[in-house]
Amino acid sequence: MVSRLRDPHYERWASQIRRTGGCRQPIHLRGKVEHWDRATGALLHRYSTHLEPDGVLRVPCKTRRASRCPSCAETYRADTYQLVRAGLVGGKGVPASVSAHPCLFVTLTAPSFGTVHTRREKNGKILPCHARRDAETCPHGTMMSCTARHGADDSCLGEPLCPDCYDYAGSVLFNAMSPELWRRFTEALRRRVAKNAGLTQRELRDQAVISFAKVAEYQRRGVVHFHAVIRLDGPDGPATTPPAWATADLLADAVRHAASAVTVSVPEVPDEPARAFEWGAQLDVRQITMGGELTDQAVAGYIAKYATKAAECVGTLDRRINLLDDLTALPIRDHPRRLIAECLRLGVLDGLADLRLVQWAHMLGFRGHFSTKSRRYSTTLGDIRQERAEYMRGEAVTTGRLPLFDEDTVLVISHWEYAGKGLSAGDALLVSALTGTPHSWGPDDPR
Ligand SMILES: [Zn+2]
Ligand SMILES: [Zn+2]
Ligand SMILES: [Zn+2]
Repeated sequence: MVSRLRDPHYERWASQIRRTGGCRQPIHLRGKVEHWDRATGALLHRYSTHLEPDGVLRVPCKTRRASRCPSCAETYRADTYQLVRAGLVGGKGVPASVSAHPCLFVTLTAPSFGTVHTRREKNGKILPCHARRDAETCPHGTMMSCTARHGADDSCLGEPLCPDCYDYAGSVLFNAMSPELWRRFTEALRRRVAKNAGLTQRELRDQAVISFAKVAEYQRRGVVHFHAVIRLDGPDGPATTPPAWATADLLADAVRHAASAVTVSVPEVPDEPARAFEWGAQLDVRQITMGGELTDQAVAGYIAKYATKAAECVGTLDRRINLLDDLTALPIRDHPRRLIAECLRLGVLDGLADLRLVQWAHMLGFRGHFSTKSRRYSTTLGDIRQERAEYMRGEAVTTGRLPLFDEDTVLVISHWEYAGKGLSAGDALLVSALTGTPHSWGPDDPR
C-alpha cells in the first residue's frame, strides 16, 4: 500500500481504478491501440500500456455474480433491470406502446423431491412447519412431522426432514434437465396460443410473437425455479400492435396448459431408473399492469435481483469442484454436500455424461443461463453496454484523452493480451477507499 501511494504513477493508477468502478478482481491487459490515416499512412495517435502503472491497463471483470465482485454485479443488475423494464414499459428502442400488450409474470417451480422444512405465513402469522397429527415414521426411523415455527433465517429451511428418504438424484437431475423443460414449455405455449386463437402455427407466426425474459432462482432446497415475463406482441415484435384476439386471459390459459403438458425424461442407466420430470404444482401466473398490484418496476427489480445470484445462496460453493476434492472438508452444510456428492456420483455414469454433472456440481447440476430472453423481448445487454462504452468514449474525447477521428478515414489497429487479474492486498484496501466499495478478501486474494 505504501509503495503504491509513493509511486509517481499513483494518480494515473487511481484514475484507472476509479474507471473500473471498484472492481474487486480487475483484468490486467497489456497492449496498444494505433490510429493510422488511411490516405497518407501517417500515424495519428498511439496508445500503449507501456506508460501505464505496472505496464497494464485495468478493466472491470464484468462478472454477474455478487459473491465474486459486488461492483461489477451491480452494473450487471442495473443493466438487466433496464433490459427487463424496457420490455415492459418501453425505452432503449422499444416503443412505450408495448405497455398495452398482454403481459404476464410467471413462476414455474420444481416438483417435490421429499418433505423439507419450510416457513409458511398466513395473515401475518407463522404456521408450524409440517404438523401432522398421525405422522408416519419413515423407514429410517424419522417421524415425518415438524411442529416448529421456523425463523426466516433458520439454517434447516429447505433441508429434508429425513435426508435418507430425500431424492437427491431426482433433485440434481431436475436441475440438469430444467433448461430443456423450459424450452419444451415455450414450444407448447406457442402451440396452445395458436389453438386458443383458432389458428395454425404458421398463421400465428404471421399475426403474433411471444417474447420472454426469464431468470433462474435457486430455492432453498437446492432446485432451480424460473421467473419469467411472457408477452404477446404483433408479428414484428414489441413495435407492432398485437391482434384483437390476444388478451392476457388467453395467454394465461395457454401458460397454465403448457406448464402442465410438458415433461422431459432421463433414460435408464445401470443402477438408476429412467425418470420423467414435469413442473411442480405451484404455478404462479399474474398479469403485469402499470400501477396495479404487480407493477412493471417490481417485476424488473425482482428479475434483476436474481440475475446476480447463483447457487451459493443455497450454501454451496462459488467455484468448480472436482472429483478429487474432499467433500467432507468443504465448509458447507450436509444438504448441499449431499447434492454435490450426487452430481459427482451420477456425473461419471456412462449414459449421463452429456449432463456434465461433475463440471456443474457446484451449481447442483444446473448448467443453464441465469437470465435469458427471446430475441424480440427488448434490447440486449450488449447494446446497453455499447451505449455506455460510447458514452465513455465521448467523455474521453471531450476531455482530450482520446483524439476524435473520422471512422471512415482512420484505420484502428489494436492488440491486447491478458496479463493477469486481481489486486494485491494493499491495492485492494486502496481500491475500497478510493471507490467507497466494501472491502473483503476475494477468492483471488494473493496473500
Ligand atoms: Zn469486477
Ligand atoms: Zn421444520
Ligand atoms: Zn427416511
